[in-house]
Amino acid sequence: MKLDLDFDKKREIPVGDSGRVRFRFRDIAVEPGKAVSLKKDFDPDFTGGYDDKEGALEKVAANVERLSAMQEILYAQDNYALLIIFQAMDAAGKDGAIRHVMSGINPQGCQVTSFKAPSAEDLDYGYLWRASKAVPGRGMIGIFNRSYYEDVLVVRVHPELLEKQKLPPSAHKADIFQKRFKEINNFEKYLRQNGTIVLKFFLNVSKNEQKKRFLARIEEPEKNWKFSPADYAERKYWDSYQTAFEDMLENTSTEWAPWFVIPADNKWFARLAVSEVISAAFERLDLRMPEVSKARKNELMQIRRQLLDEEDE
Ligand code: ATP
Ligand code: MG
Repeated sequence: MKLDLDFDKKREIPVGDSGRVRFRFRDIAVEPGKAVSLKKDFDPDFTGGYDDKEGALEKVAANVERLSAMQEILYAQDNYALLIIFQAMDAAGKDGAIRHVMSGINPQGCQVTSFKAPSAEDLDYGYLWRASKAVPGRGMIGIFNRSYYEDVLVVRVHPELLEKQKLPPSAHKADIFQKRFKEINNFEKYLRQNGTIVLKFFLNVSKNEQKKRFLARIEEPEKNWKFSPADYAERKYWDSYQTAFEDMLENTSTEWAPWFVIPADNKWFARLAVSEVISAAFERLDLRMPEVSKARKNELMQIRRQLLDEEDE
C-alpha cells in the first residue's frame, strides 16, 4: 500500500547559499523491509561533506519559519495531525533537536510528551495505552520524546522490565517483540489512515561521541545537571541497544510511518536533517486554508456593515 507520504528517495537537499547538493533522503531514510546494519549503512558523523555549520543553522531557521506557517494552515484546515517520534541513546541530542526544530511554532499548536518508565497506572494497560492518550489532535503537532518504541528497546535489553508488565502467560513467548512490531505497524497505519502523519527519527550518535558528551557533562559544572549515573550504566549495554535499534528499524519502517536515521555526532547537522524531513513531509500534504462558503461570506459582509454602522463611542 502506497500512501501519499511516500518520500522520493532521490530527493536532494541543497544546503547553504551555494545550493550545492549535500545529502539525499536515501542517505537517511530506512527502506521498508530492508535489513539494517547501523555500522555499515549509517555513519553517525555523516554531513554529506558539508561543514558550513552557520549556513546549516540558517537553513534550519528558514525551515522553522516555513513550519510555523504550515502549522497555521494545518490548524485551520483541521484534517491532519503530525506526530514526530524521537528515539536515541542518551546524550544523542533529542532535547536540543526538539527545541531547535520546534522553536518558532505557536505553542498552542504543538505539544511535547516525554515518556519515562511507566507508572503503576500505565502498567495496568497495554503498552500503547499511554501513547494513544497523547497523540496530537487534528491541526496539532505532537512530539514524542521517547515513545512506545521503548517497549521494544529498553524492555528488550532489560527483560526484567517485561516481567513488570503483568502480561498474561500467553503473551510471554519468544516472539513477543515480533508481535509488538506488528502491533506498532498496525497502530501507526490506523493513525495515518485517520489523518495523523507519523515521522520517526532515530538520532544515531557514536559510542565515542557519547563518551565525549558524558565527559563534558561531568567536567563542565554548568552541564552537571544533565548527567545521570544511570545513563553511564546504560552505556554498558551499548551493543545490545544497537541490535535492538537495528531490529526495530528493520521491522517498523513502513511506507505509512518511515524511520529516518539521523547522523547525530554533529548536532547542527542532525537539526538540519530533521527540519528538512519535517518540511518535506508538510509540503507533501495537501494543506489548504478551508474554503469560505458563499453563505458564510455573506454573513461576514453583513456583520461588517453592522460594525461600520455603529456610532463610535
Ligand atoms: P533527559 O535525560 O535528556 O532528560 P531522557 O529521555 O533520557 O531525557 P530520563 O528520565 O533520563 O529522560 O529517562 C527516561 C527513562 O525512562 C529512560 O531510561 C527510558 O528507557 C525509560 N523508559 C521509557 N519508557 C519505558 C518503558 N516503557 N519501560 C521502561 N522504561 C522506560
Ligand atoms: Mg536520560
